[in-house]
Amino acid sequence: ASAESGAPTIFDKIITKEIPSSIVYEDDKVLAFRDINPQAPVHVLVIPKIRDGLTQLSKAEARHGEILGYLLYAAKIVAEKEGILDGFRVVINNGPSACQSVYHLHLHVLGGRQMTWPAG
Ligand code: 5GP
Repeated sequence: ASAESGAPTIFDKIITKEIPSSIVYEDDKVLAFRDINPQAPVHVLVIPKIRDGLTQLSKAEARHGEILGYLLYAAKIVAEKEGILDGFRVVINNGPSACQSVYHLHLHVLGGRQMTWPAG
């Protein structure tokens, strides 16, 4: 599937567990699992179970407000579970110039090391 096409992504198969993942947190609305190519000691992806048009943040509409807020709350739950509540980063890559590779909205929760921007 080409970028931004709205076609199914690998995350659909992770949600249905056709593809295994290391799940950190799951409820009826979101799934959080370890990134297969971690960029920090803790690197967890948080995704909505129902994409509902949210291939990327730039597609957000007012009706997505509830799930967008809940994704941030879930990022906090992940940070708490991973023991990094005192310092962590939440990243959303939007579009090709930001190197987004999977077109199902996801938050990266990164921690367990010193981040180098903006202070570095
Ligand atoms: P993006 O670059 O789109 O913001 O991030 C997509 C992330 O998904 C990447 O960090 C990549 O490592 C991760 N990823 C891609 N395929 C898989 C997979 O099959 N399993 C897991 N756990 N992570 C994946």
